[in-house]
Amino acid sequence: MIDVERLKQRFIKYVQVWSSSKDDVDDRYPSTPQQLAMAALLRDDLAALGLEDVRMDEWGYVTGTLPASPGYEARPTVGFLAHYDTYPGVSGENVKPIVHRYEGGDIVLPDDPTVAILADENPELVRYRGEEIITASGNTLLGADDKAGVAEIFEGLAALMAHPEIPRPTLRIGFTPDEEVGAGTAHFDVKAFGAHVAYTFDGSLLGEVENETFSADGATVRITGRDVHPGYAKGKMLNAVRIAARFVECVPQGLSPEWTEKREGYLHPLKIEGNASNATIAYIVRDFTVEGLERLEAYLEMLAASLQREFPGSKVEVEIKEQYRNMIYHLDKEPRAVEFALEAVRQAGVEPRLESIRGGTDGSRLSAMGLPTPNIFAGGVNFHSKFEWVPVRAMVKAAEVMVHLARLWAERG
Ligand SMILES: [Zn+2]
Repeated sequence: MIDVERLKQRFIKYVQVWSSSKDDVDDRYPSTPQQLAMAALLRDDLAALGLEDVRMDEWGYVTGTLPASPGYEARPTVGFLAHYDTYPGVSGENVKPIVHRYEGGDIVLPDDPTVAILADENPELVRYRGEEIITASGNTLLGADDKAGVAEIFEGLAALMAHPEIPRPTLRIGFTPDEEVGAGTAHFDVKAFGAHVAYTFDGSLLGEVENETFSADGATVRITGRDVHPGYAKGKMLNAVRIAARFVECVPQGLSPEWTEKREGYLHPLKIEGNASNATIAYIVRDFTVEGLERLEAYLEMLAASLQREFPGSKVEVEIKEQYRNMIYHLDKEPRAVEFALEAVRQAGVEPRLESIRGGTDGSRLSAMGLPTPNIFAGGVNFHSKFEWVPVRAMVKAAEVMVHLARLWAERG
């Protein structure tokens, strides 16, 4: 049903198109012009495939519709989504994808011999011995996050169109920008998209279905010191730099991302800037539960108060901003979303694994906006790095999962 070569070639085509997003861009959406070029390409390709209502809006959202099979028009409309931007922290320009037949051992990438995908660090690799995997060439990321998802959705569509005997409800497709900078859904019109349920293909390992994400806040610590000439500072100066350093140091290591895993939350100092007068520390706060977030934030508040006492005359304030919430709070309203996902994975011949993501997805926000959107594996490993790789079989299975999901919602939705 799945045309492996067509899927592979489409993936290879898309990863070679530069579409990195960019952090901290306030005056432009999407954050980079190259994303709009990518969006235009996807729009043209969706139209070429024969979808209806193909559209690209001013924000770079590309959408299209595959109409339901005759008789299934009244079934719930299902959305499939993937983001086409790539992580800004590692170059995504001039990506040179390489298809390897993996025969065991480490994979050294040709453009930078110091970049090797080590068998020791990638226990998943052995599952694909004798099979094809795709990597970048050493200088860039690959962009399987999330062009694997984009290519899989295209292949799922092509398979459904080639097999009209497989029933499907109305399918809505969405390709989105700026996911990697946390703004993937900033202008997304859930109502116009018009789906009852949706799936992002943006997870990692074969078989994963993710129904939980972190709950997330940002915390800004603002420190006001008192600057005086250092020659005459004794007993007078309150150095905001020193207070900031002390603040960061006082947060126990055990609460940091470097020391936590699984369902543990953390406080992560992302950025620190300032001078002797003023300093700010930007934290991200993460936990699976809202109660956990509140505990971590209370810790920051407590620390701020204690540093103010330690440096009398200084000011240490904490400002909290909500970012997103664990999608499970919203998915519970449509249990079939996850139920059918697990079943579709099984039907693709893969043992499903229900996972919690130590991060957010576009699905977290979409679910909060009323569109239940669990996340399904796209197959890539080592996201956001030059060590990224994706097994071709995982991409094939993801496309199959999409076909099964369409059928499940048609038959039982
Ligand atoms: Zn992604």
